[in-house]
Amino acid sequence: MKIGVVGGGQLGRMLGLAGLPLGFQFRFLEPTADCPAGALGEVIRAPYDDLDALERFARDLSFATYEFENVPAETAQWLADRLSLAPNPRALSIAQDRILEKTTFRDLGIPVQPFAAIATVGDIVAALRTVSLPAVLKTRRLGYDGKGQRVLQATSTDPDEFVRLAWEELGRVPCILEALVPFSAEVSMIAVRARRAGHGATIAFYPLIQNEHRSGILWKSQVPAPCDGDGRLATAAEQYVRALMESLDYIGAIAVEFFVTSAGLIANEMAPRVHNSGHWTIDGAVTSQFENHLRAIGGLSLGSTECRGASVMINLVGRAPITARLLALPHARLHLYGKSARAGRKVGHVTLTAPAAAELGEPTRMLEQLAVWEL
Ligand code: AMP
Repeated sequence: MKIGVVGGGQLGRMLGLAGLPLGFQFRFLEPTADCPAGALGEVIRAPYDDLDALERFARDLSFATYEFENVPAETAQWLADRLSLAPNPRALSIAQDRILEKTTFRDLGIPVQPFAAIATVGDIVAALRTVSLPAVLKTRRLGYDGKGQRVLQATSTDPDEFVRLAWEELGRVPCILEALVPFSAEVSMIAVRARRAGHGATIAFYPLIQNEHRSGILWKSQVPAPCDGDGRLATAAEQYVRALMESLDYIGAIAVEFFVTSAGLIANEMAPRVHNSGHWTIDGAVTSQFENHLRAIGGLSLGSTECRGASVMINLVGRAPITARLLALPHARLHLYGKSARAGRKVGHVTLTAPAAAELGEPTRMLEQLAVWEL
């Protein structure tokens, strides 16, 4: 079975690493040279909207998927018209637009904070009637890892002017103004939905993951989530993610990020793909998110999402510390993406997995000291 993946970054690489033992072959569509997925299959090196390249990419594929959400809508539709593309273009288009995303959540009863769209300078006054400061102004499209965002404090004496300046700084592109959420923790729920011929659809959930960000980039993920001792947050997250997947007739892995507040969960965003906060599943779950995503899009039965104890994952950003020092940490599993060092770039991650969370305290502290980020 040959699977086409739009994008050849580290997520494509980890899909390849999960799929090769199952007998899958891979073809990646990726414009940059020496991409992380290059070691795992054929690479068609071309822009994502190059029609000739898409023809070559799609030839003799059994299925196609993507590893990042900024795939051009036309490319997704072109592929979906010719072969089985999962997740479907509708899920992709919702995840590409923060207003559509929040509106979809709200319509499904998934809690969101107050938000408003800003397309012209004239929208700012109306937006401030719906959303009071402190707030975050984000570009509607193409933001990732905290890029394309400005935090607006409540101290401003002239909020209209304050928002206008931030909007101009972001390039006067369509934006969302959303209330700043006073959260006590951030969590994500990763789930996979599959449909096998004659069996209907099934959904498998990974445990709730607690995440910490630094400068808008994921720093650390932990399972079990310390903030969810009684499992109530996980139950709520599962209910929301199930509603979302069923309404979109979604196939594949999804990640939904939430803020934890005194009033419960507030949805931040969704990723229609495998997700950085699920990297620990390679070492810490019976079946990784990567393998389960491939099983789902291939119409196969899902593997168990059960944990092998507790896990902590820390991203390596900018430059990887010396391998020998990382591997000397108890319970450590190192994953390097084959990327050269560059400030702000995710070059790898380390997962610590042990039967009980208590065993991970000291190794986590040691790893936190080693994994110094270059931003
Ligand atoms: P995002 O690109 O939307 O995932 O934002 C990156 C990170 O910025 C989030 O994980 C939060 O830590 C922070 N953040 C984004 N939006 C908000 C918000 N409305 N309220 C509080 N923190 C936010």
